[in-house]
Amino acid sequence: MNWLKDEIKTLTEQNLFRSEKIIESAQGPHVTIDGKDYILFCSNNYLGLANHPEVKHAAISAVEKYGVGSGASRLVSGTSKLHKDLEEKLAELKKTESAILFPTGYMANVGTISALAGKEDVVIIDKLNHASIIDGCRLSGAKLLVYPHKKVEKLIDILKKCSKHRRRLVITDTIFSMDGDVAPVDEIQKACKEYDAMLMIDDAHSTGIFPPHKADIIMGTLSKAIGSLGGFVCGSKDLTDYLRNKARSYIYTTSMPPALCAAAIESINIIQNEPERITRLWDNVKTVKDGLKNIGFNLGQSQSQIIPIIIGNNDKTLAMSKYLFENGIFVQAIRHPTVPKGKERLRLTVMSEYMKKDLGLLIKKIKFIGSG
Ligand SMILES: *Cc1c(COP(=O)(O)O)cnc(C)c1O
Repeated sequence: MNWLKDEIKTLTEQNLFRSEKIIESAQGPHVTIDGKDYILFCSNNYLGLANHPEVKHAAISAVEKYGVGSGASRLVSGTSKLHKDLEEKLAELKKTESAILFPTGYMANVGTISALAGKEDVVIIDKLNHASIIDGCRLSGAKLLVYPHKKVEKLIDILKKCSKHRRRLVITDTIFSMDGDVAPVDEIQKACKEYDAMLMIDDAHSTGIFPPHKADIIMGTLSKAIGSLGGFVCGSKDLTDYLRNKARSYIYTTSMPPALCAAAIESINIIQNEPERITRLWDNVKTVKDGLKNIGFNLGQSQSQIIPIIIGNNDKTLAMSKYLFENGIFVQAIRHPTVPKGKERLRLTVMSEYMKKDLGLLIKKIKFIGSG
């Protein structure tokens, strides 16, 4: 398999080879890498719950009672009381009749889309939807149509031409992962009603932070603001009953560890009882955005805690990320193929628990490279 070496060499020559940074501490506003302290601006632990003492305590207590592995898939013997409690909690959070858990958000998307759509159907998606949605669409075998980012009038044009298909499924991220902008969910929902389409929304980045939208199928993840791991779908009891019987990524895989369910339940309780975490998050987002705008950077259309600094050049983006890292700030450079060529960017994700001086240092260092 010498071709692997050739492929890797090509990626390396193009400056596109990616490697991992190894974290030696918990996810928090700061992390340790290679024994050194870094301020972290590329974590989805938006509300600081991944390392919250009560969340940890909930997980530890659950390990004491239930052990570590769940032992089997959900339909065999891998459904614990904690899985059911969490499904109830999620239905309450999203204000739906029912909820179903998957081991990850990726699996929730892939399993749900491929169970809901087949060869006779059409799936219509936003151009900037998450990769897991695209993979689910491909797996479904349905006809896949793409509308330009957030262009509802184009979506309507497509819907008008799809009345002959058995069913229509429209899917959008609510917050787009690379740009941090927000989908016009209400308008999309109106179009879906008018043209008899099902609407599925991916709430991965909004769960726990933004108030819930309404849709036929609400997908989300426990791995971001909730600080745990696991995916879910909320909707009617008919929807979740159907998915339990048809979604292959639910049926043919071991269920998530019970301790992670306990952690997620505790996180949701904390979010419901401490709204000030979200206030702190928005304060931090404002500080960062104001600081960066003053320097004159293009932040795209961000309306959330995800803030792209669009540089539009691969090597320059990498150089900026490297400079920040050398100065104790960890920000990821996002490149092709994750974003189109010419849209290379630093992608900042802001969390609720920084100190003011962390944000001050970020802006100072970015200002230095921005002007140099
Ligand atoms: C992170 C993410 C997922 C996948 O969720 P995981 O739980 O990490 O597998 C799906 N959709 C979107 C939009 C995401 O950002």
